[in-house]
Amino acid sequence: MPREPVKMGPALSGEHAEANSIAALRKQAEGCERCDLYKHATQLVFGEGPGEARVVLVGEQPGDREDLAGRPFVGPAGRILDECLHEAGIDRSSCYLTNAVKHFKFEERGKRRLHSRPNAGEIERCSWWLGAELEELHPKVVVALGATALASLLGRRAGVLKNRGDLITTPAGYPVLVTIHPSYLLRIRNRVDAAAERGRFVKDLAKIAAQVE
Ligand code: SF4
Repeated sequence: MPREPVKMGPALSGEHAEANSIAALRKQAEGCERCDLYKHATQLVFGEGPGEARVVLVGEQPGDREDLAGRPFVGPAGRILDECLHEAGIDRSSCYLTNAVKHFKFEERGKRRLHSRPNAGEIERCSWWLGAELEELHPKVVVALGATALASLLGRRAGVLKNRGDLITTPAGYPVLVTIHPSYLLRIRNRVDAAAERGRFVKDLAKIAAQVE
């Protein structure tokens, strides 16, 4: 059956912040009040990586550790991502890592801060920054890690399960590779299933190499 034509999500809509470097964008974003998430988070967690990066990996939002450190993918999910990128033959230090949403959203339970999924409005508001990061870097491939990243890049109707492992061509000039968020691997209790899912994730990430050769 022929695929439906790809619709662009807000990050690829062409409406985004303007600046002449990632550092300048980050500086602008430090004062962002486009949604309410800045009010409770510790700090902004902007994207990080070389200015000439040919691969951009997009996650959901900073977690507890990232919020405290002010850096993306430094918690447990980031560790798995590092290992899987390595197994897929991709050097993390050559990639730019960012999130669809730049402030940590959480619910307080006693002393704990539990991750809370960003809503459609927050994803759309924050795509102002993701769109600008992509415009500045113009990578060879963008990797959507999970549903929130995919919603920002390709819209809410693009499902991870439906498109997993696919490289979707976009009018923005680069393909979007669809896969899971590495935090999903941390939630699988059964060891056999966890190993199988991890293997699938590495296989997805290995598709990056063909795009940057
Ligand atoms: S989450 Fe994004 S849009 Fe909302 S305040 Fe933070 S930087 Fe701005």
